[in-house]
Amino acid sequence: MLNDLKLFQELTEILLTEERETPVAKPIPSQHLYDSIDLSLPEDASIDNDFKATLTELIKRTPKTASTSFFNQLFGGRISRATLGDLLAVMLNNSMYTYKVAGPQVGVEKVLLRKICDMIGYTATSDGTFAPGGSMSNFMAVLMARDKYNPEAKTEGMSHKMTLYTSECSHYSIAKNAAFIGVGRNQVKAIKVNAVGEMIPSELDLQIKKDIAANLQPFFVNATAGTTVLGAFDDVEAISKVCKAHDLWLHLDGAYCGSVIFSDAYKHLVKGIALTDSFSVNAHKMLGTPLSCSIIVAKDKKHLYQSFSNDAEYLYQTNDDDYNLGKTSIQCGRRNDALKLWTLWKSVGSKGLEKIVAHQFMIADVARKYIKNHPDYTLYSFDDSISVCFNYKDIPAKTLCTQLYEQAALMVGFGKFKEQEFVRLVTINSLIQEQDMIAFFKTIEAFEFENKPENKELVGNSQVIDEE
Ligand SMILES: *Cc1c(COP(=O)(O)O)cnc(C)c1O
Repeated sequence: MLNDLKLFQELTEILLTEERETPVAKPIPSQHLYDSIDLSLPEDASIDNDFKATLTELIKRTPKTASTSFFNQLFGGRISRATLGDLLAVMLNNSMYTYKVAGPQVGVEKVLLRKICDMIGYTATSDGTFAPGGSMSNFMAVLMARDKYNPEAKTEGMSHKMTLYTSECSHYSIAKNAAFIGVGRNQVKAIKVNAVGEMIPSELDLQIKKDIAANLQPFFVNATAGTTVLGAFDDVEAISKVCKAHDLWLHLDGAYCGSVIFSDAYKHLVKGIALTDSFSVNAHKMLGTPLSCSIIVAKDKKHLYQSFSNDAEYLYQTNDDDYNLGKTSIQCGRRNDALKLWTLWKSVGSKGLEKIVAHQFMIADVARKYIKNHPDYTLYSFDDSISVCFNYKDIPAKTLCTQLYEQAALMVGFGKFKEQEFVRLVTINSLIQEQDMIAFFKTIEAFEFENKPENKELVGNSQVIDEE
């Protein structure tokens, strides 16, 4: 073990140097992947030196998500106190299903969940769990709602149509999950958004009334805190009124920007959050922990038990259910995703988390200001968002992003809103400083874009980002 830890340290140093000196790894076209690095699995053991050389090559050619040139996704950077916690979780290798096997790590998870429930105004009846990502958090929410409003579905399967509601700008996992839970993708009603990408509550109300009149059974509404492309916040309070009027489950998908709950200055963006039935947030997005760290909390924990507990005598050999976390999770064996958030929070305090969140909005303001003051740019995004959407000169967003990527200059993606395509710059890496942000624009301005109308699909990098 100690030898491998030494090797780990050497490789980590190589990675950190690479991040500084070659912040964007030269991409390998996917059709050349297997001729570029030896990924094959040998019959015989590798010689240590070959093994190390291959690992070094693999590190060098892998995209650097923690570099100051990575703005491509809704995560980025590396907050070392959180990374430390994740490394410890790997070393400890507990499974979170029982108190017997996870011991005090159960407490680590429970303390986090309690604190988050308290912060959003959920009472003592609430609880939550860590899901394998925001899509799965959304899955757990919609499944709890299905089981609440159609308890037979769990034992007998679906017998009638149920409908659910989400904005046309929400995450694609809502449609996938509708299929997973047996309700069906076609029962998802996409509600129109206003000019800034927020769901229109009156449109929601209209659609629900229409569906009730058509003898359908509405059961679930998903609101979003930080839509995937624009970073828009749905009006939770207004949507909650509609849900109350029709007795529907309200979930708030805060995978992207739910972490505004940590900031006194920005938590007004989720005003009314206490009125929801469930809330999810990805700490691996705004809080900068390693992937993945997704939390789902339910206002009434009975729904977690109703949908996710299954008696298993061989597993639950001590009988305090409150400490046997497997009773409320999707998985059986479950990785310890809590420790990395706990080490971060413990070391920087709630005030430190608040600073992380505020910094991202500050950097987004720097970027917006730069764009507004520069005639070559057009801005497409709005205040109170850490997705800064823009176009540069008349270069199509896709061309711009692809060429910057192929030439290993910058990693940034593009998106679409109301038929307009644009670059989506995400200021989610809280270690990015003002000068890094300015350097991003200077890199674009110094770059010689080739005038080719449509890019060859070289490396399969050009999917539109709302599939995130
Ligand atoms: C990222 C995101 C998700 C999905 O989270 P994963 O952890 O990638 O599964 C869901 N909803 C929104 C709004 C997101 O931004």
